Amino acid sequence: MAEYDVDLFVIGAGSGGVRAARIAAGHGARVMIAEEYRVGGTCVIRGCVPKKLLVYASRFALEFEDAAGFGWTVSGAKFDWPTLIANKDKEIARLEAAYRTNLARAKVEIVETRAVLEDPHTVRLLKSGARIRAETILLANGAHPVLPQIPGVEHAITSNEAFHLAALPRHIVIQGGGYIAAEFACLFHGLGVDVTLVHRGEEILRGFDDDVRRHLRSEMVGRGIKVILGEKIAAIEKQGHSLRARLLNGECHPADQVMFAIGRDPNTKNIGLEEAGVKSTAAGAVAVDEYSRSNVPSIYAIGDVTHRLALTPVAIREGHAFADTVFGDKPTKADHANVPSAVFSEPEIGVVGLSEAKAREAGFALDIYREQFRPMRATLSGRATSILMKFVVDRASDRVLGVHIVGEAAAEMVQLAAVAVKMGARKSDFDATVALHPTAAEELVTLRNKV
Ligand SMILES: Cc1cc2nc3c(=O)[nH]c(=O)nc-3n(C[C@H](O)[C@H](O)[C@H](O)COP(=O)(O)OP(=O)(O)OC[C@H]3O[C@@H](n4cnc5c(N)ncnc54)[C@H](O)[C@@H]3O)c2cc1C
Repeated sequence: MAEYDVDLFVIGAGSGGVRAARIAAGHGARVMIAEEYRVGGTCVIRGCVPKKLLVYASRFALEFEDAAGFGWTVSGAKFDWPTLIANKDKEIARLEAAYRTNLARAKVEIVETRAVLEDPHTVRLLKSGARIRAETILLANGAHPVLPQIPGVEHAITSNEAFHLAALPRHIVIQGGGYIAAEFACLFHGLGVDVTLVHRGEEILRGFDDDVRRHLRSEMVGRGIKVILGEKIAAIEKQGHSLRARLLNGECHPADQVMFAIGRDPNTKNIGLEEAGVKSTAAGAVAVDEYSRSNVPSIYAIGDVTHRLALTPVAIREGHAFADTVFGDKPTKADHANVPSAVFSEPEIGVVGLSEAKAREAGFALDIYREQFRPMRATLSGRATSILMKFVVDRASDRVLGVHIVGEAAAEMVQLAAVAVKMGARKSDFDATVALHPTAAEELVTLRNKV
């Protein structure tokens, strides 16, 4: 009898776990993967994908408004939340089925249960009680939204529930200053909800470039979202069917829903880390090296449970690198430099590389190029909005260290700019590229004014 039941046991069938399982199986490993909720994980089931579908839905409102300046009369436009949610659920079910098919095709066995570590080579399946011996174990079990310890928190929702509300709220209070809070504030606002965003910090989107942070907030306020900074919700009171969010300063905000998007903690509790001797970081994540290996040689961890860069493509890269390293005889480190990211707010943000503050902290002498301009479409729509573009450039080498865009299609633009930044492009390379006219993106190659 073989010493191990499988070569690889993966805990969590999300973005990272599924990629790792498929690639390892492709390298010839016998692989089993456990999932306690739905195959596809956060991104597919209750993250990036359903969110983007809701964002698309919310943007039609702007299209209808903007159309008037171009001669259109759009009358009788009505929005139906249950239709959107039902169609979104159908698409998510289709994607989940595709993930299952791909795993089956790769000959990965799926076990639908919560799984926990018992020792460096044993996983226990909670549904059946079975114990599986594995030569290597991969923790790919993600993170979860955090809720504060305040009176009435049981009435609040997180992003998990926001995707399944029976009815669209008329008024929502959202606490949080990160990208998920900003995205939900904007998408609910676009769908006609009265939105109040409460954030304890001095500015939203900590970690993003300061110009980007200010620009998005002023656009959000300009569109009618109430943003309250330096405050937080102290209690939630229920009165009949409605709620009241009471802030620390005593102010009360009535709402049909109160949502928290104040961060996500790695899923490291009650999964047997202590039993297996796996060490955590101070932030409560699984501690790993650059090959995603924990301090226990047979146990690896990737994705959100390691709290490095909590993004789907990063989890996927880490999973792929792990499988190539351990089963493909090709040691590969996951590369976390110059990872592009977006905020699907309204207007949206696309970013790659260093913010001005991070670049200064790193000791670079900088040239900053910044432009704020009215998009062509706004000339006829009359919308009061502007696009922000900013380049952070190393003065010594002329290398572009960061590109920051706020405006329509910013995410699409930055995905392409990221190729140039990753290749080490200089500002002069952008300047040497002929503009594509008339676009907003042409500003990327015509930015001339140093701040
Ligand atoms: C609202 C929202 C929007 C987002 N938007 C974006 C975006 O636009 N772009 C982007 O790149 N990223 C986005 N993200 C982040 C992205 O979803 C995550 O970074 C990504 O899903 C992480 O992948 P993962 O494999 O580490 O974990 P996950 O995808 O979370 O998968 C972990 C899986 O493990 C399962 N699990 C947990 N514990 C156990 C256990 N003990 N046994 C069995 N199964 C277990 C879970 O049910 C889950 O399915 C968003 C996240 C949220 C919440």
